Amino acid sequence: MEKVDLILTDVDHILTMDENFTEYKNASIAIKDGKIVDIGEDVKNKYFGKTVVCRGKIAIPGLINTHTHAAMTLLRGYGSDNPLKVWLEEYIWPVEGKFVSYKFVKEGTELAVYEMLRNGVTTFVDMYFYENAVADVLNNVGMRGVLSTGILDFPTPGAKTPDEGIAKTEDFIKEYKGSEYIYPAIGPHAPYTCSPETLKKAMEVAEKYDVLYHIHISETEFEVQTVKEKYGDTPVKHLKNVGVLNKRVLAAHMVHPTEEEIEILAENKVKVAHCPESNLKLASGIAPIPQMLKAGVTVGIGTDGTASNDDLDVIGEISTAAKLHKGYWKDPTVLNAKQALAMATREGAKAIMKEDELGTLEKGKKADIVLIDAQVPHLNPLFDPYTQIVYSSKGLDVDTVVINGEIKVLNKEVLVIDKEYVLNIAKKWKEKIENR
Ligand SMILES: [Zn+2]
Repeated sequence: MEKVDLILTDVDHILTMDENFTEYKNASIAIKDGKIVDIGEDVKNKYFGKTVVCRGKIAIPGLINTHTHAAMTLLRGYGSDNPLKVWLEEYIWPVEGKFVSYKFVKEGTELAVYEMLRNGVTTFVDMYFYENAVADVLNNVGMRGVLSTGILDFPTPGAKTPDEGIAKTEDFIKEYKGSEYIYPAIGPHAPYTCSPETLKKAMEVAEKYDVLYHIHISETEFEVQTVKEKYGDTPVKHLKNVGVLNKRVLAAHMVHPTEEEIEILAENKVKVAHCPESNLKLASGIAPIPQMLKAGVTVGIGTDGTASNDDLDVIGEISTAAKLHKGYWKDPTVLNAKQALAMATREGAKAIMKEDELGTLEKGKKADIVLIDAQVPHLNPLFDPYTQIVYSSKGLDVDTVVINGEIKVLNKEVLVIDKEYVLNIAKKWKEKIENR
């Protein structure tokens, strides 16, 4: 018998989410030094160490939220149901202008992190301001984040000019590159808010440091129209002309690409973060995801910020995606349950260029594992675990969350952030925002 740090034993179903969708029944996972060292039916008999018995549970890889603005959780539900322009100009921007600070971002992120952990998210991709505050929270709780500060051509809370934003991002990358939980990235906001010069300079940094280039692309018809008028081409073609389309690009939303642009995305290995609930709530439209998948584009799932979702439930998000595309394209075979769950795991890892470490339950991968409680009436009878997770379960069915081999959630309780503490944060900021 070999000693390990943690063994998850007697798991009813282990969905590895590898390329063959390998599954184990009544099996165990052994973890050492933050990594999966063994997985299978006989593992229980080969190792000893701290043991969590997982009878009645389904194991899946830690969920990856490929696009959010965590700190905006302090604005959940604020100014909902208004036209986009009114919502932004009368609600979101004034509050951000007045309050966004290190403290706002830190506390908003703590509230978001509590919710994401409770819902089985182990890694998220963020774009906001004061990302050093996000990094501090994540290092504190031991959760992974791909962190990018929004770079725009006008002054932001952290930078007066885009050049200052890029320089500060470079410092941030140098500080965090190679750390366990923080994957620094660069975040030019969008093709309509960043000049070609800003976009190019940001790509130079992404290539120099081998980091992700996180950007909103083709989110709204307004954006498509604006880019067309300004630069004579639709957003994807414009970015191709600028020379910033490659495997480092994680494009959030991608609601309005043309057929030609979908081919361009595939050829240039651009990854897409699909955010269906935000696109629906903000009335942006429906992204042609089945067509992108068919063309070979890697697609992950994102919640976007809770101001436009209004939650951080990735399981809920894949459920929405799977149903939305069936209904919209009038084809019940598109985006099946396995594909939908892959978007939140394996494909999400590819979207952030971390497929060697994250996204599947395999020997040698980081031990980021989620256990879903299947002993609840609404998941039974259980004919097919993939179907049940995507169509029947909710994020709150997550029972246990392990990140880097450490237990963060157990018996549906978040162990690393206090619930009363985050509720107080929310209450305090609600009063401040209402009395502004
Ligand atoms: Zn966004």
